[in-house]
Amino acid sequence: MYCGISKAEFLEEEAPRLENWLNRNMHGEMRYMENYFDKRLDPRLLVDDAKSVVSLLLNYFPPEKQVEDSYQISKYAYGQDYHFVIKDKLKELLQYIQAEIGEVGGRAFVDSAPVLDKAWAKKSGLGWIGKNSNLITPQVGSFYFIAELIIDLELEYDGPIKDYCGTCTKCLDACPTGAITEPYVVDGSKCISYFTIELKDKIPEAVSGKFGNWVFGCDICQDVCPWNRFAKPHQEPAFTLNPALQNLNKEAWHDITKDVFREIFRKSAVKRTGYAGLLRNISFLGEK
Ligand code: SF4
Ligand code: SF4
Repeated sequence: MYCGISKAEFLEEEAPRLENWLNRNMHGEMRYMENYFDKRLDPRLLVDDAKSVVSLLLNYFPPEKQVEDSYQISKYAYGQDYHFVIKDKLKELLQYIQAEIGEVGGRAFVDSAPVLDKAWAKKSGLGWIGKNSNLITPQVGSFYFIAELIIDLELEYDGPIKDYCGTCTKCLDACPTGAITEPYVVDGSKCISYFTIELKDKIPEAVSGKFGNWVFGCDICQDVCPWNRFAKPHQEPAFTLNPALQNLNKEAWHDITKDVFREIFRKSAVKRTGYAGLLRNISFLGEK
């Protein structure tokens, strides 16, 4: 786990960037991104008397691989749903702070709409935001969950680090749908993650044949990033790849019944796309 701390204040640098991204409709049907515009940019509107944003990273890089002849799901979804796993850890941390220091008020956030987690992690020196728009931490890469505690306690603050993308363009070159429209700009509405998870309707024919084997999310722009050569397997038992999922080959994916889906993905983030959504994603690949 990595930790960095920033003063809870208006995110001046991010404001025009977020506005521009929304104006260009790069959030597609993710309408919730339009909500809480002010709260997203100022944590003091989210938590009374907020003084500090404590950003935390938790590694999810898996030691296991899915079988070779399988459809792929994003590595972050191999184990149990991270929202619950991390929320418990954050609560524990807040209780620890309260036990050590006294009355400290605050709230925990995990991948939650109103908090720009990557911006806070960057501001707190946990990494830089790469051309693929992921937070990259030197020596460990980008296969990390980001979470925050926003608390009413003043602390010493960290500062940002340098951007080490340099002249590399591997993520831009590898993205099969051209979703990284320019360095540091990902058009969410063109990303395989969006099509396979967020989109509720039919996937447009224009992207047919571009998904490879991805049926839930996509890791391509992280897999090709040279900084992920440093990724080390996580130590979190809850993130272990479910053996039933690990051994699912393509044929078995096609045969998944609603009951098998429920059983395999009972505690998983894959539930988010739903049974019908998963079947849509599999059939979009056009294989039998
Ligand atoms: S996750 Fe996949 S589709 Fe989305 S930007 Fe990265 S490479 Fe492109
Ligand atoms: S692949 Fe290269 S350009 Fe893309 S995020 Fe990684 S280092 Fe940066």
